[in-house]
Amino acid sequence: MICLNSVSKEYGTKRKKVLALDDVNLVLPERGMVFLLGKSGSGKTTLLNLIGGLDTPTKGEIVVGDRSLSAFSQDELDDYRNVYAGFVFQEYNLIEGENVASNVGLALSLQGRSFDLPLIDSVLRKVDLIGSDGNTLRDKRIGELSGGQKQRVAIARALVKDPKMILADEPTGALDSKTGDMLFSLLKELSKDRLIVVVTHDRDNAEKYADRIIKLADGKIASDSCPATEEKKPFSEIKGGRFPFRRAFKMGLRGLGCRPFRLISSLILSLICFVVSALMVSFASVNQAGVAIASAYEQGFQIAKIGYGGSGSYRAWFSEEQLALIRSYTGKEEIAEASGYLPEATTSLIFRELPHFEGDIYKNKTNPYFDALNGYSVMEIDWKTGEEDWDLTPDPRVRNGVCRLPKEKDEIAITDFLANAMLRFGIWGYPQNPESIDDIIGKQLYGYTIVGVYRTEIPASLIEQYDRDFGTNWRTDEPMLKYLANGVKDTILSAIFVCRDLFEGERGSAFIKLSGNIDRDLDFLKRFQLLDVEMDLDYYLDENTPGHFETEEEVRLFIGKPSILTLYSDQVSASISMQLYRTLTRTIFAPYFKCALGVSFVFSVLLTMNFLSASLDSRRKELGILRAIGAKRRDLVKICLSESLSLAVIECVLSVILCIVACSTINKVQQLSILSAFWYPVLTIFVLSIFVTLVATVIPVLRLTSKKPAEILKNA
Ligand code: ADP
Ligand code: MG
Repeated sequence: MICLNSVSKEYGTKRKKVLALDDVNLVLPERGMVFLLGKSGSGKTTLLNLIGGLDTPTKGEIVVGDRSLSAFSQDELDDYRNVYAGFVFQEYNLIEGENVASNVGLALSLQGRSFDLPLIDSVLRKVDLIGSDGNTLRDKRIGELSGGQKQRVAIARALVKDPKMILADEPTGALDSKTGDMLFSLLKELSKDRLIVVVTHDRDNAEKYADRIIKLADGKIASDSCPATEEKKPFSEIKGGRFPFRRAFKMGLRGLGCRPFRLISSLILSLICFVVSALMVSFASVNQAGVAIASAYEQGFQIAKIGYGGSGSYRAWFSEEQLALIRSYTGKEEIAEASGYLPEATTSLIFRELPHFEGDIYKNKTNPYFDALNGYSVMEIDWKTGEEDWDLTPDPRVRNGVCRLPKEKDEIAITDFLANAMLRFGIWGYPQNPESIDDIIGKQLYGYTIVGVYRTEIPASLIEQYDRDFGTNWRTDEPMLKYLANGVKDTILSAIFVCRDLFEGERGSAFIKLSGNIDRDLDFLKRFQLLDVEMDLDYYLDENTPGHFETEEEVRLFIGKPSILTLYSDQVSASISMQLYRTLTRTIFAPYFKCALGVSFVFSVLLTMNFLSASLDSRRKELGILRAIGAKRRDLVKICLSESLSLAVIECVLSVILCIVACSTINKVQQLSILSAFWYPVLTIFVLSIFVTLVATVIPVLRLTSKKPAEILKNA
């Protein structure tokens, strides 16, 4: 028993209004076959939508049994559409991507019933989609069907629910007269124990099958062959079941697959953005000192240099407190200071311009390697602590001469590397090449006497690499010279040791011997960093100083953070990624770095949202249909989340793989552990994609489904 009391329905905006139903009063019985006739635009579909709960009246109320539809809760209304009413739409409203059986079975799933194939078959047989000859259209896709066949699927979908009421909007419009006839007799049969309301233009069949014919004109009832009177019966509670998650998931996945090009292109783009953001986060989150130490360990280095950023005269010096800290860590009274690399010694060295050393140190100036080899370093050796204190090993080839470190201001010691070069190319100022290492000792170089040749211990890993790259004779090989000249000019290899008294100066950097325990080393650096730095700001701000700075901030930017591990080996610090890393994370680039991070994050969010909203857009119709046949809003959220979360998972997995590949490639090629803080980007990616996905899915789906089903379908 459905009762319409003064029901009006008005469409449109304030400016242009259409009164589709005008004060309709109508009582429909529990059972029987009611036909709605009327010209196009007379309000038949509107009336059907209102009765079916797809739309609400502007005025008046619709009472089902003893309850008004307007008093139904959202869930009750969904269940009403789901269980009570079976709708056959004029434009079929089938799910295009699925086949006949799953379209019909969907109605069962929405009620929480199992996919009952025999039942589905029996219904398909009733609407002649399975012929008496056994010819079945059950597995055909909707797109492959004719209009008449689609209409029959739509009818089957309503029938399979065995609803209390079937509302059919021009169900025979697309059928031939024979099938139309068959359908009407089927509906007639069904109307024995339920209400069937059929909208049709087929006057003859209406007369033939109708228990009652209602004619509509201009939104009003023009005639009613058999008006019923109101008799209220209690509305018995109906309950729709749970839409199975598996079904929702399947529908969601189908959405992913049906736009492969769009999927792949937005996947690739947002992957790039995600990976870039993740790498940036990982760059930014990296503990620079930790990475430096780990990389140094990895390459077999044990000596690290700590110091300030900046170079040359723009260098900041350690405070007394910091010097004390370093002293206590190294256990040495004297602070080791250097620009070079000396594996076996915690020596006190400093890189300075040595007076008068302006020319070449080799005899033969025309050798192509000489120019490059010009870049020698001068290592100032602190003599106060005495020779025994040094870990420097004399070159074993020195036999007759005495090998020692310089004691006087006019003495120097050189490395075996320089000595080898001198054996090959001679010594500047001497006509004859020296014949042996012994021969070199005692020779003069720009007024300095060579008093010692010392071994340059190179880490085993580096030696192996050199052996691989240059052959085992690399120490005297020209390619090796060239390589070293180009790459490691400032290293101990080409160092010249001088007596400390040659220079005076403050300590701006220091060697520390790494303990082999990252935590201990980091702990040291941490304590070191906590100390307040006293920078000689006056000096940098002095207008007479060339290249002075205007503000304190500028100085700090230039000098950088205090006490970072600035150099643990020339190899590592010269690596591209280390330079990139520094450039990206330090000083004036930091704001751009953050901007880039923000931009790439925003882009990945936008791309994902774009894909999801496009996919939701193409799903509008489907969501409208599901809503119209009784799906709850949360079911639709389930479907859409299945799609978008699957996308998020794919995105996550791919980004993580890409990140791993990128990180390990950088680490391998650059011999760094720069991206070892890997869990951080992974977590970032995960949280980002889930967050983006939830936001980009739930909100639009809820917004869309807050509309009335009729409205969604109309605008889809
Ligand atoms: P019928 O099914 O009898 O052809 P309808 O119930 O579809 O007629 O429409 C009745 C009137 O309401 C028509 O004038 C139609 O243009 C108008 N109408 C129907 N739906 C809408 C809508 N969503 N927005 C605006 N006008 C509508
Ligand atoms: Mg219509």
